[in-house]
Amino acid sequence: MASHYAARGASSGLFALRCAGFADARGTIPATDSLLAQTTGPSTRKILAIGTAAEVQTHPAWAYADKIDLPGHVVAPALANAHAHLDLTHIGPQPIGPGGFAAWIDMVRRERHAADADIEKSVLEGVRLLHLGGTLAVGDIAGSVAGTPSLAPARVLDGAGIAGVSFLEFFALSPDGSPGLDRALQQAAAFTPRTIRLGLEPHAPYSASPGAYEGARASGLPICTHLAESPAERELVAQARGPIRDMLTGLGLWNQAVAAHFGRGRSPVEHLGGLLGGVLAVHVNDLSDSDIELLHKAGARVAYCPRASDYFGARDAFGPHRYRDLLEAGVPVALGTDSVINLPPGDLAERGICVLDEARHLSQRDGTDAPLLLDMLYNHTPAALGLPLGAFRLDAGATVLGLLAVRTTRTDPALGLLASQGPIRLL
Ligand SMILES: [Zn+2]
Repeated sequence: MASHYAARGASSGLFALRCAGFADARGTIPATDSLLAQTTGPSTRKILAIGTAAEVQTHPAWAYADKIDLPGHVVAPALANAHAHLDLTHIGPQPIGPGGFAAWIDMVRRERHAADADIEKSVLEGVRLLHLGGTLAVGDIAGSVAGTPSLAPARVLDGAGIAGVSFLEFFALSPDGSPGLDRALQQAAAFTPRTIRLGLEPHAPYSASPGAYEGARASGLPICTHLAESPAERELVAQARGPIRDMLTGLGLWNQAVAAHFGRGRSPVEHLGGLLGGVLAVHVNDLSDSDIELLHKAGARVAYCPRASDYFGARDAFGPHRYRDLLEAGVPVALGTDSVINLPPGDLAERGICVLDEARHLSQRDGTDAPLLLDMLYNHTPAALGLPLGAFRLDAGATVLGLLAVRTTRTDPALGLLASQGPIRLL
């Protein structure tokens, strides 16, 4: 055994960590300050041993490992982010203007890149910000250019070894979802990535018809959608009026067939109903008790982006977000960041695009406890992207999706991880 590791020499990728402690989905891993691992790919690490220093040093590979001493640091699995828009990274953080949600969407439509080379640059900067945030998996939205979703984000994410899903975004208000859905399906068939998977994102109930959702689900690809995000969305779905109708009219997309979907007094969740089975519904700020029941019955998952909801004033419109009620009802709730446009510039500069900052925000804003936050970070978020939960557990023999280290002053590693503020180091 020893000679096997010795033979691989300096290129073995073996490293031995010593730190203040470890945490994962289960919380603090008791009586543990050492870990021995091997780099097996750009984003994969195989854990050979974990325990006390004395225990880990008995492993035959220990002698050949690079020793990394991280006093005052907690080490945890690298993160997954359930919802981002990396192709908007170049826009940077922006205040929300007086025109509200519809004006904000107009701004994004104006500012988004059209050329693949520019999109790639923006996504590459997004990957740098994911790494800064200790993140190696993402549910990223690949926006459309002239009605066809771009494969540039998937190519960049794949090249960087990022796991998760590149959701190809499309708009399709026609009853059968054509031609937006067909173009998205053609793109999905045109590229076979290695580390990332391709999925589809019918953009939202106000920009994709129920038929488009049906067609997307029939593809068998992972599906996500923006849902129940703003008062403007509710106004359109329930009453067929308001700023989104004005926007659709301005774009020449409002007609009788489109109008027929709306104005039936339904909530956005009711509007899609059973079509939400297996779908990752993003935001869901606007939720009644019966909406929560419906999501549970349909088998939907939710991705909540706490700082984005606050940025858009969802609390003022709908009251506090009901993520804890969703979890209690058995609806999994993952954490995402949404785009950099809505992230606080200070947070973004220091920790990039980081769901740990979303968890810290919930802890500070709502007093949400550590077990629930770790459950969201390391169970519901990877599961929302179809990733194996074992890749987020610090067990001997497990292959994890990278490790992160962050300085902490707390004695309990799990609490230290969630309260941490300084830079994150990916290992
Ligand atoms: Zn989004």
